Amino acid sequence: MAQKYGYLANAEEFDRNRACLVCDDPQPNYSWTDLSGEGYCLRCGTPYQLKWGTLTDGEDYPRCNIRPEWIPPMRTFWKEKQKPNGQGTFLGFGSYPDQLAGREAFNSWCHENESLLPKEKESNDP
Ligand SMILES: [Zn+2]
Repeated sequence: MAQKYGYLANAEEFDRNRACLVCDDPQPNYSWTDLSGEGYCLRCGTPYQLKWGTLTDGEDYPRCNIRPEWIPPMRTFWKEKQKPNGQGTFLGFGSYPDQLAGREAFNSWCHENESLLPKEKESNDP
């Protein structure tokens, strides 16, 4: 699958031995999304900040860009479907048909598995 920005994400400086939180790939490969410094796991689609962005105390790269409460359902989706979840930041999907198919599959799965999803809180995002 041709990637819009190639595989250059793997050339960045970050911990190469940090397993993916969703698919457990011990040495994930990443491709860029359309968000500066964000790459997605080529196996499962989970987005990680590989550089730039804002790190909080104790964080370093790669830093998962998914809220922790969503990791368990995303792991279940991966185990059941073995498809990318398509949750990276994409301005359009023309260059990412696999991620679009994955996002659609994940959205459908979420509708069928609402009991497994985190309860949405009142937004406390900044
Ligand atoms: Zn992964």
